[in-house]
Amino acid sequence: MLRAIYSRNPFWESFSNLTQSVSEKFKEIITQSYMAPTEDAFRAELKNVQEDYPTASRERQMRITYGRLGKFSLPRIIAEMKKVVVEDVYRLERIARTETTAITATGREQAFQETDPAGKNRYDWFGPLDARTSDECREIERRVQAAGKGKGVTLKELKEIMKSVVNTANQGRRTKWQLRDWSPHANCRRVLRRVV
Ligand SMILES: [Zn+2]
Repeated sequence: MLRAIYSRNPFWESFSNLTQSVSEKFKEIITQSYMAPTEDAFRAELKNVQEDYPTASRERQMRITYGRLGKFSLPRIIAEMKKVVVEDVYRLERIARTETTAITATGREQAFQETDPAGKNRYDWFGPLDARTSDECREIERRVQAAGKGKGVTLKELKEIMKSVVNTANQGRRTKWQLRDWSPHANCRRVLRRVV
């Protein structure tokens, strides 16, 4: 499934100084650094999922559980990247964080679309709000709050808000970043979440 998501999401950043083979190796490293949840954690979360989605098939419930608990190991990704190319660690971390955020959110989006085909549930772009939070994510949060009155917005609305914020930011500072689904900016620490 990870590979399928990744094939639709080529690297967000333009690698002017990285060869195609390095880029391909990075993809391998990132997809191989996805950590499945422990059995105990999985069993506990599966109960919550079964309460949230009582009519979903067992297979769907299990897939949602993986989506909620699975995560990437950033230190592992960065360590492996360092073996492939001589590059500034900050840049490697930025690639790892940006890519894993996008992959995780895209996977969740697919699971949410499957379990909520009518688009009735509410979602937000959840994460820390501190000195490192970007202007984009602050603005996304402000708009989601305003539109959803604190209860989140539909998946479609959330995506439109994110697109609009990123497009405005791109025009303002003429960045080389390209908007990709669920990548509002580099180094984003936020995640797509269903609001319950
Ligand atoms: Zn962010």
